[in-house]
Amino acid sequence: MLKEFPAEETSKLQRVSDTLAFAERHLVYPDYRVVESAGTDPLAVIDGQEVVMLACNDYLGLSRHPSVVEAIHAAADAHGSGPGGTRIMCGNVAILETLDAKVAEFLGCEDAITFPTGYMANLSVFHALLDPWFGLFPYRRGTATVFADAHNHATVHDGLRLSDAKRVLYKHDDLADLEAKLAQHEGKGPKMIVTEGVWSVEGRLSPLPEVVAIAQRHEAILMIDDAHGIGVLGEHGGGTLEHFGLTGRADLVMGSFDKALGGMGGFLAGKKDVIRWFRMAARAYVFSSAVPAIMAAAGIASIDAARDGKLLRRRLWRNSELLRQGLGGLGFRLFGDGTAPTVPVFVGEEHLAMRFQRRLFELGVYAPAFRWPATPKGEARIRVTPMASHETEHLERALDAFRKAGRELGLIG
Ligand code: PMP
Repeated sequence: MLKEFPAEETSKLQRVSDTLAFAERHLVYPDYRVVESAGTDPLAVIDGQEVVMLACNDYLGLSRHPSVVEAIHAAADAHGSGPGGTRIMCGNVAILETLDAKVAEFLGCEDAITFPTGYMANLSVFHALLDPWFGLFPYRRGTATVFADAHNHATVHDGLRLSDAKRVLYKHDDLADLEAKLAQHEGKGPKMIVTEGVWSVEGRLSPLPEVVAIAQRHEAILMIDDAHGIGVLGEHGGGTLEHFGLTGRADLVMGSFDKALGGMGGFLAGKKDVIRWFRMAARAYVFSSAVPAIMAAAGIASIDAARDGKLLRRRLWRNSELLRQGLGGLGFRLFGDGTAPTVPVFVGEEHLAMRFQRRLFELGVYAPAFRWPATPKGEARIRVTPMASHETEHLERALDAFRKAGRELGLIG
């Protein structure tokens, strides 16, 4: 395939144009469709067509919850648009202190720190915690080791790149591999483990009880990225740790307001001193603007709605089950076991997944293809994401489209 590239460079940026053309030719370039309704609508209008939205992370429909919308209006009246600066400057408005405290309480932690995105939380956490801020403190440069599940989200891997800590990848959810690697590093400096609570692209939970026990045995700092668990799992929506009865058993919980909480922003929750330390050492917190008041107001209201959201969770799980049963019944090979709400449908070849996604769209369903490098090569899939706001008839419509497109592409008989 590389033969398609010209041998000689014809101009300074020609290689970019050539690579782009290559990506487009081989269906690697993403389909950026234009969503003309709200992206969170269960029936959305995209590129002029009404489609069943199965690509949205607003699991509980909280982006449109009346109390959330009302809180945004009130904050917009009081604060306008931007925060005007970082939290160290003028940005530390009272509503952000309320938001931090709300997140901490929701997750059963002593304190929490919030960022404009979850990405910024993951970019900050490793360097702030494990690199020296001055001299040898809190830890000497390069002495700490982070043991990261190989399938962690890209934002975790990017955060690790920004830190001097050593990165050791352990095989995905392979507890024996994790233990063996920890044992090799015994007595060689501070250790930290980072994994996710929910593998959304696999439709299942990670084995947190075992990971918690391993972290304890090896005295490793434990961080859980629970972006897809918070709001969805646990009786009160506290996430994967609450689901397993392990609230407070991880040293750090990372989450995003952009999934079940329906908004935008990210956070880290944990012990008081660690969070207080981040307020000085986390570069994305110190050098970048604060969360805007409108999003803080939305976050506070959405946490209340998520905590009281038993009925919404019940609807979400019912919809998830309906899709899992329906797609399985059609003969699709599915990932996962129903412990996470997403239903990933196995396709295989990356280009086939793109063709499947496009055909589904023509048939009135918007569900995204996940391909390498987000998934292992040759294991491309369509991740189907239900929301509490879907009606049964939306899902039946979607199943009809899956049946037709799946048969046409030879994925089912
Ligand atoms: N972690 C995980 C597991 C995620 O899925 C995401 C969002 N795709 C993030 C972190 C980043 O969160 P945000 O979108 O708030 O930046």
